[in-house]
Amino acid sequence: MIKQPIKIKELASSERITNFSEVISGYTEEEAIKEAKRCLQCKNPTCIPGCPVGIDIKKFIYQITEKDYKGAYFTIREKNNLPSICGRVCPAEYQCRKSCVMSKKGLPFASSEVINIHFLERFAGDYGMKKNLVAPSNKDKKLSHFKVAVVGSGPAGLCAAGELARVGIKLVIFESLHRPGGVLRYGIPSFRLPRDILDFEIDYLKELGVEIVTNFIIGRLKALEELLTEGFSAVFLGLGAGTPAFLGIPGENLCNVYSANEFLTRVNLMSAYKFPEYHTPINIGKHVIVIGGGNTAMDAARVALRLQKINGISPHTTILYRRTEVEMPARRLEIDHAKEEGIKFDLLVQPQELLGDEGGYVQKIKCLKCSLGEADSSGRKRSVPIEGSDFEVDCDLAIIAIGLKANKILTSVTPALETDNYGDLIVSPETMQTSVNRVYAGGDIVGGEGTVIEAMGMAKKASQAIIDCLSK
Ligand code: FAD
Ligand code: SF4
Repeated sequence: MIKQPIKIKELASSERITNFSEVISGYTEEEAIKEAKRCLQCKNPTCIPGCPVGIDIKKFIYQITEKDYKGAYFTIREKNNLPSICGRVCPAEYQCRKSCVMSKKGLPFASSEVINIHFLERFAGDYGMKKNLVAPSNKDKKLSHFKVAVVGSGPAGLCAAGELARVGIKLVIFESLHRPGGVLRYGIPSFRLPRDILDFEIDYLKELGVEIVTNFIIGRLKALEELLTEGFSAVFLGLGAGTPAFLGIPGENLCNVYSANEFLTRVNLMSAYKFPEYHTPINIGKHVIVIGGGNTAMDAARVALRLQKINGISPHTTILYRRTEVEMPARRLEIDHAKEEGIKFDLLVQPQELLGDEGGYVQKIKCLKCSLGEADSSGRKRSVPIEGSDFEVDCDLAIIAIGLKANKILTSVTPALETDNYGDLIVSPETMQTSVNRVYAGGDIVGGEGTVIEAMGMAKKASQAIIDCLSK
């Protein structure tokens, strides 16, 4: 057996910071087979329960060793209808790979020698995409006269639509933005998830008969109750967590202080990097500071650094995080890529105030140094500010990336939908049904910010409950 993992090819960091091309190029056939042959084919595979949708990992990896790529693609698609997307963005080191028997115990994420399950999934997903393979549908005539509405076209909405369409239910997705995809479109940059991959999956749904209505806000242009009285037998809500959290410190309303969501949406969705060809500007600075340690912070920093380079500014982007790298919730791969690209990490630092110039533009950030204390309820060690350790950093563009909260556009005008203290929807854990009959929910609007595959796991559960309900 080959002991060491087969390395994935990546663009050199000096080249990749000059553009938005995909950084990782994926396994070749030969590499995929070699990596797949490292799998021990355990009798009781522990990786499968680590996957939120329970993909038969052992089987699809075996199929790759047998060169049965079509079979591998269909095995994955049985449980996951966005394989090429998950193969690129899934934080597998915290999920399936972490629970693999090869992973060293006691680490918060999978050790590096574990099989690269996500890269193999990407290989099979891309094979299916290139060959235009269509998974066998499971149409049920009895269900074909039902119509279901999906609100939101992020991974939860897309997954629910796929699950329901494949049994023959008519689907309409309502999306408030002008393009579908949710965070996959406006948040995750194209150098991690090329847009042709997302477009392929959306077109796949359209071919299954799913209708997508964009620029349509449920709760503004149409009420939830209207959907139920206008012929939809059930509704799935995949509203996401699109509201940015702020630090609550002085200076956050200065010019050139962005939430990461606004910054990324301007660039990824509104093509601000092509201003003035596109009409959304972005005022990229010489000293960009990104505050936070999650995926959003890494994406914002990597986008900012590229914009500096593209605009002829000497790249100078720093991440400020109040704990250490071990506690950072971002994917390990993204942290490594950010470092390779030249992003500086200023750790154990807590911002106190954003300071502006006479024109009202951010100029500096006043910070305190921190130490690590006891673990908090999330299991991560608390950061404890050190009195009298104040210092200032130069900053002419600040990006706040400290978390996201529930999107309340619909829930704020629909009192019948019960929410918790965070504004997240309360659902039955067995069926994902909300407090309103025939209305189900999943994704980040249930339980807060999670991952793409967790959102899809909830959407699958809700879809099954909808199918069971309509089949009665
Ligand atoms: P979303 O993707 O947020 O989609 C919700 C959609 O609903 C949006 O398009 C919104 O416009 C629409 N909507 C909301 N309200 C209405 C309404 N009333 N009417 C019509 N439409 C409405 N996870 C990973 O697994 N790996 C990663 O690498 C990763 N990176 C990330 C990077 C960033 C920058 C961010 C922000 C998140 C990242 N995540 C990552 C998390 C992941 O993207 C989310 O967990 C996932 O997108 C949640 O899916 P969702 O469908 O619930 O919501
Ligand atoms: Fe692992 Fe994610 Fe693939 Fe599941 S979807 S097998 S968690 S990489």
